[in-house]
Amino acid sequence: MGRRYKRVEPNRWTGPLSTIATMIVAFDADDTLWHNEDKFQETHREFEALLAPWADADTVENHLTDVQRANLPRYGFGAKAYMLSMMEAALDISDHEAPPETIREIIRLGQAILDRPTELLEGVREVLESLAHLPLMMITKGDLYAQHASIEKSGLSEYFWRIDVVAHKDPGTYAQVLDRHNIPVEQFVMVGNSVKSDVLPVIELGGRAVHVPYHVTWTLEQVDDDHGHDFPTLAHLTDLPDLLENWT
Ligand SMILES: [Mg+2]
Repeated sequence: MGRRYKRVEPNRWTGPLSTIATMIVAFDADDTLWHNEDKFQETHREFEALLAPWADADTVENHLTDVQRANLPRYGFGAKAYMLSMMEAALDISDHEAPPETIREIIRLGQAILDRPTELLEGVREVLESLAHLPLMMITKGDLYAQHASIEKSGLSEYFWRIDVVAHKDPGTYAQVLDRHNIPVEQFVMVGNSVKSDVLPVIELGGRAVHVPYHVTWTLEQVDDDHGHDFPTLAHLTDLPDLLENWT
C-alpha cells in the first residue's frame, strides 16, 4: 500500500531500520493529524433533529449508538457504515414511518462527511518536519477508500515512510504491521488520540505509546481508566518532539 505514496526524501531518512533509526514513530490520523470526530458529533445533532418527530435527542443518540455497536463487526468503521446505521436507527425509531425524504437527508449527511476537506490539526506539519530524521508511519483504521481519499486531501503523505490503512486496531493487527515492515517492537512508538485503539494494544504488544487526546471521543472509542497502564499524555501534538528527544 505504501507504494502509492511518495517515499520520504533520501536526505530525510535512509538505511536499514535496526542500524540507523533508534525509533520508528507511527501516527494515528483521524483526530490526531486531522479533524474528524467533530464532524460526526455535528452530524449526530442533525440526525437527532431529523428524528425529533418520533423521539427525544437522548433516545435517538442511545439507539444510534446501539445500532452502530451491533453493526461494527459487519461494516467496520467510517462514514459509510455510519450512514447505514443512521438509516437503520431512523426506521427503528420511527417504527418505519420515516419518509423517503428522511432517508434522503441521512444520505446527504453521510456524503457531507465524506466530502469534507481534510483539515489538519494545529502544528501537524511542523511536528512532522521536526521528526523527519526518523522513519515516520501513519496507521489509520476505517474504510479503505475513504481513508485513502483523506490521505490524498491531507497532502501529508510525503512525510511518511509507510502508510497502513487497517480494519481494526488490536494487538494482532499491530503485530502484523510491525512484522510486514520488519520493525522491532522495542523501537516502535505509536501516537494517537484513542487510548483504546492507539495506546493500549501497542503497550500490550511491548511497544510504547503516546496519548494526545482530541476534544471529543466517540462513545465506542471510550475506555475505563482502570486499565492499569502508564503512558505519557500530551496536551498538544507539538509537545511530541521534546518528549521523544528525552525518551530512551
Ligand atoms: Mg484517531
